[in-house]
Amino acid sequence: MTVAVPPVVELDRLLADIRACRACADALPLGPRPVLRASASARLLIVGQAPGTKVHASGVPWDDASGKLLREWLGVDVATFYDETQVAIVPMGFCYPGRGASGDNPPRPECARLWFDALLPQLSGVRLTLLVGLYAQRHFLGARRKASLTGTVAAWRDYAPDYVPLPHPSPRNRGWLARNAWFGDDVLPALRERVQALLAAP
Ligand code: SF4
Repeated sequence: MTVAVPPVVELDRLLADIRACRACADALPLGPRPVLRASASARLLIVGQAPGTKVHASGVPWDDASGKLLREWLGVDVATFYDETQVAIVPMGFCYPGRGASGDNPPRPECARLWFDALLPQLSGVRLTLLVGLYAQRHFLGARRKASLTGTVAAWRDYAPDYVPLPHPSPRNRGWLARNAWFGDDVLPALRERVQALLAAP
């Protein structure tokens, strides 16, 4: 007789497998330390880039200046942001990928290839996915993406109700935010309203 595995147990096992992943260990300067959070009940999914050194050290996603600004954009406090039952946090690359000449390296491509097909269907409660940065937008929007990140973010209404594309809230992106005032004027109020309604729903 086959015994059905409850979805929660399946997700727990999958997360344990991911946390034990060593698939690209040889390419990781600080070694594997997958940083992600997920639960079947989460309504909001945040797909970012990859951990930086601070997040690698703490093991807490968005535990840095970028995370602080992202929480301001969403209008959520720290406790809500880290409430796994409400918010799933899954970057494109789960481990710190090292540094190149112009900043952190891109997320390792192995993570999405190895894990996303199994992981994303387990997040059955998700109603809205935030695509933070170019790598997440490439993966989730594919050919629906515009020619540039700015164009994709400006066309945010095209991706509703499933996705909201966002720039990365890194301090290095201050120039982009200053040049694109429409983002703060138009996108963020709508984003806040949507996120808060989603998280407040019974
Ligand atoms: S970056 Fe992804 S594929 Fe590589 S070891 Fe970490 S979890 Fe595994």
